[in-house]
Amino acid sequence: MEEAFRFADELGPFKLVHIYRPSADLKAVVAIDNIGCGPAIGGVRMAPDVSTEEAFRLARAMTFKNAAAGLPHGGGKSVIFADPKMALRDKERLIRAFAAAIGNLAEYIPGPDMGTDELAMGWIKDEIGRAVGLPREIGGIPLDEIGATGFGLVSAIDVARHHIELQLAGARVVIQGFGSVGKHAARFLAEKGAVLVAASDTRGTIVDEDGLDLTVLTVLKAEGGALHGYPRGRKLGADAAIDIPCEIWIPAARPDVIHAGNVARLQTRLVAEGANIPCTAEAEEALAARGVLVLPDFIVNAGGVICAAVEYRGGTEAAALALIDEKIRANIEAMLEEVRRTGALPRIAALSLATERVRRAMRTRRWDGGVA
Ligand code: NAD
Repeated sequence: MEEAFRFADELGPFKLVHIYRPSADLKAVVAIDNIGCGPAIGGVRMAPDVSTEEAFRLARAMTFKNAAAGLPHGGGKSVIFADPKMALRDKERLIRAFAAAIGNLAEYIPGPDMGTDELAMGWIKDEIGRAVGLPREIGGIPLDEIGATGFGLVSAIDVARHHIELQLAGARVVIQGFGSVGKHAARFLAEKGAVLVAASDTRGTIVDEDGLDLTVLTVLKAEGGALHGYPRGRKLGADAAIDIPCEIWIPAARPDVIHAGNVARLQTRLVAEGANIPCTAEAEEALAARGVLVLPDFIVNAGGVICAAVEYRGGTEAAALALIDEKIRANIEAMLEEVRRTGALPRIAALSLATERVRRAMRTRRWDGGVA
């Protein structure tokens, strides 16, 4: 009994459901953490080595991300124990079995995550009538194609720069991970006059202090090439992106890339966390102590989930971008105001604002906090 409730605290989880369907070879866990703000939105992750704890922790992160973004949605996440590279027909069968099993979990709206994509969300929608991150043909807004998360990152930077008196025109930018998030962040920053001086992928870093050509880089990646295929500039190892001096440093690849052991190498004024948990807590503290402003992941990379929430209501791409801009700007303002008022780290300030929103929302609900 205690084991089943080991994650329980004042916020959730509301439901932690283990699903087993031997005939479909399906093992899955759905964590619906908190529905104070509304039905939980969160991705479906498929991997052989997922766990109940991972599902819960990711669901909790979604509770904060959705609340911080001011969306009428709580946080959830599900994991399916399977190899995502299985044959497409087998994957469809498995995902459809999963969808049927979560049909009555009306408080949970699934979206794509590692190992699942928009086609998989189409199958789930077909089975149970709800999912986000759908193919365009059935009302989806392709968030990676339009660069929803990179766009939101730049809205955040555009507000935060006033806090540190930074001009975007001519500001040097370094992007670690030139993928869906990184390349669009670079594009939107370039529109404001910033200059991309270095970018990296798994195979290396390319550096040019005079500015890299975004179109050339984007075509290189779209054709399956590496950034090292860029015809000019200096070519360094993948890890070297940390050492390039800049005003804006954007991690958009993996977790924990900046830690106590390498944080001293970073020479920048602003870090906008495109990736999830790219800096350890120690690294964020060390950066704050040096006067580097770190914009925390769950505030600045919420563009994707805001886009999903707009899609869920049948909204358009233009409406999604407008809402991302509005929400993220307002959140960064509120977070920086709290930082000024309390002297707290940006992440702590943002978490306290998000938790307060969840608590206030819970008071309106019958499932918990109410008197019924
Ligand atoms: P992606 O796969 O499109 O791009 C990731 C890029 O990072 C690739 O170019 C890859 O080569 C590069 N990379 C991987 N490891 C690297 C390393 N060690 N050094 C340098 N480059 C490396 O992924 P994405 O969708 O852009 O997501 C990037 C990160 O942002 C992930 O942490 C993801 O969880 C997070 N995120 C994405 C979204 C979204 O909307 N796509 C939203 C929120 C958070």
